[in-house]
Amino acid sequence: MSMPGAASESAADFGCREAPVLRERGQHEVFCGLTGIIWLHRKIQDAFFLIVGSRTCAHLMQSAAGVMIFAEPRFATAILQEQDLAGLADAHDELDRVVGRLLERRPDIKLLFLVGSCPSEVIKIDLGKAAQRLSDRHAPATRVLSYSGSGLETSFTQGEDACLAALVPEMRAAPANGDRELLVVGTLPDVVEDQFARLLAAVGIPEVRFLPARQAGDLPAVGRNTRFLMAQPFLGETARLLEQRGAGRLAAPFPFGAEGTTLWLKAAADAWDIDPAAFEAAIAAPRERARTALARHRDVLDGKRIFFFPDSQLEVPLARFLARELGMRPVEVGTPWLHRRNLAEELDLLPADTVLSEGQDVDRQLDRCRAARPDLSVCGLGLANPLEAEGLTTKWAIELVFSPIHGYEQAGELAELFARPLVRRRLLKV
Ligand code: SF4
Repeated sequence: MSMPGAASESAADFGCREAPVLRERGQHEVFCGLTGIIWLHRKIQDAFFLIVGSRTCAHLMQSAAGVMIFAEPRFATAILQEQDLAGLADAHDELDRVVGRLLERRPDIKLLFLVGSCPSEVIKIDLGKAAQRLSDRHAPATRVLSYSGSGLETSFTQGEDACLAALVPEMRAAPANGDRELLVVGTLPDVVEDQFARLLAAVGIPEVRFLPARQAGDLPAVGRNTRFLMAQPFLGETARLLEQRGAGRLAAPFPFGAEGTTLWLKAAADAWDIDPAAFEAAIAAPRERARTALARHRDVLDGKRIFFFPDSQLEVPLARFLARELGMRPVEVGTPWLHRRNLAEELDLLPADTVLSEGQDVDRQLDRCRAARPDLSVCGLGLANPLEAEGLTTKWAIELVFSPIHGYEQAGELAELFARPLVRRRLLKV
């Protein structure tokens, strides 16, 4: 694999594919998978997410999405009452009534997700069965699917994986003798999706589909002629189900920064036998723009030590990007799960001395962070304030998921997200 962003370092300085991993299974501090609804509902424009949960779930969603105001919201919580939780009422009947009322009032909803939560799982409402029953009842106007966003043993980006995994069985079978099709998997802001579609067309791959699609009815087909590129590293289950349907995963780093984006596009170009010179010609200008944008942040970030708490599952690709394109030094890169196969190309590019950790035992990890005194700690909201109070500079991991960070045109903004807290700290000290 080439290393375009690290011309000055030797290959021996990089590579964590075989590195030992510190595995921890203790208390962890992350949002639950319901959080994914906040970006998923913006993407699938005729979908609705109905959380079957408690007031806690409703409060989480209200505070997480509180800054957004919609004339017609596309998510809500059906709150389980005490008699439901005590098994004194038939939660299925009540759910059918709530869904009936919702769809009557909102005929624009083409795809309804029933989203499971901790309370619905504790009382064991079978939402899969409910979705099937409601789909039969409301077909063909609305399809009803279900997935779990429960907070038990999850990380917040897992909600997207569960949602997309629920869509895979709904994808039509692509004809066995059809043309090869490229599928990009993972929710991207529309503007980024359009950029990738244009870039891939310029490279020589004009037919690109995206999962999820913007409209529920545009769900792409899948089959043996499908090759897919993962746009997000946290979609392990979705990838597994796509492979089960015959699709082939194109192994690549993720499209963060000039280098990651180039290698990601290159994986598709190679699968389509695109002439290397034509590939180079198509990407040269946007890659140069990305490099120029990155250079503006290098003096702030170069040489700074960064510590990742496990949170978004973006940690490994982001550490690779920051190390190789901005000169940062990852001290510890924690991630809720280390998908060795999906991250193999990323691990190859991480500095060899990076400490990798999987899972969390939050007190121990805080001790390691305090001992390391990194220049920047990337963590969840709950850890940021205490760490700041101890004089450590932090970056909220969740912001990275809400911001457009993929591709060449966003590389500078991605670097800025890390530079900003360091600049702020410097200004506070003056
Ligand atoms: S799903 Fe569980 S963790 Fe998430 S808000 Fe509801 S009760 Fe809390």
